[in-house]
Amino acid sequence: MITASPGARITPDATAAGADWRQLWRDAVTDAGELLALLGLSHLAGQLPPADAGFPLRVPRGFVARMRQGDPRDPLLLQVLPQLAELDEVPGFVTDAVGDLAAREAQGVLHKYQGRALLIASGSCAINCRYCFRRHFPYGEEMAAAGQWRQALEYLRQDHSVSELILSGGDPLALATAKLEELGRGLAGLPHVTRLRIHSRLPVVLPERIDDAFVAWLASVPLQKVVVLHANHANELDASVDAACARLRATGATVLNQSVLLRGVNDDADALAALSERLFAAGVLPYYLHQLDRVQGAAHFEVADGHALALVGALRARLPGYLVPRLVREVGGDASKRPL
Ligand SMILES: *Cc1c(COP(=O)(O)O)cnc(C)c1O
Ligand code: SF4
Repeated sequence: MITASPGARITPDATAAGADWRQLWRDAVTDAGELLALLGLSHLAGQLPPADAGFPLRVPRGFVARMRQGDPRDPLLLQVLPQLAELDEVPGFVTDAVGDLAAREAQGVLHKYQGRALLIASGSCAINCRYCFRRHFPYGEEMAAAGQWRQALEYLRQDHSVSELILSGGDPLALATAKLEELGRGLAGLPHVTRLRIHSRLPVVLPERIDDAFVAWLASVPLQKVVVLHANHANELDASVDAACARLRATGATVLNQSVLLRGVNDDADALAALSERLFAAGVLPYYLHQLDRVQGAAHFEVADGHALALVGALRARLPGYLVPRLVREVGGDASKRPL
């Protein structure tokens, strides 16, 4: 069991089956001092940046429970704990690293790649990942879900080249299931859209989100469905994540995973191989391994291209081909993710 300071809780009692995900969301740890205390690391509190470097800490308690006690190098902790290094200004690390604002086509719609339109469905996340571009994205104005998805659906109605609709964010599963049902009804009038893809970190960081109402909705969507999870380390997966993945697959969805290559978190062949094996045990196939977007405040996570290529070479030598993710980088203006 966990040893923490008196009164501290790693996991609320409500984590038992049937817990309401919104309550768990609200109950997330948002104070870096509390997070360190829960992990027996209070002596590190003096090394925190002031005011969380402008991007608040947020991490669900169930995810905290998967971190190791007393280990400041824990790969899950490093993804969420603000670091002084975030304050460094590093040339080339900017606030719109992938040029997304230039690809905006309508409120909350990004159309960069042929056949696929991406909706910024929600600006919220259950967890704030320190390496993420979201720390700089002006989500206030960019929510596709506004006005019953009106602008986004109008855009899709007029562009018959779009066969796949991607819900991304932020995290699209931050939206209430009723809001997703609204979108589903709008898509029913668009026969050229044959696939629905959902990119979400929630099945990993707050698996309770994959509840009965959501599963019933997804199962009822008469399109081909793909759910792309986001896990960076095998320790992020536990029995609750296995259960969420099984429920997703039971809807008929293909379940994939994308990761970001992060220095100190997963930049060794053992960690990446363990992640691929663990994902497959949960019924999930690795899809992409992303080189970091060069966002301001994330430079300390960057892995050199040469090392990244060597890691994927090592994976290829020890895993079946279907467990080796594609190493890519997102480059503004390209017609696809760019393979390394
Ligand atoms: C990454 C991305 C996609 C999806 O690309 P795939 O290679 O099909 O996974 C689509 N639209 C945008 C804007 C993206 O950034
Ligand atoms: S968009 Fe994904 S990676 Fe970025 S902060 Fe949200 S959950 Fe983390």
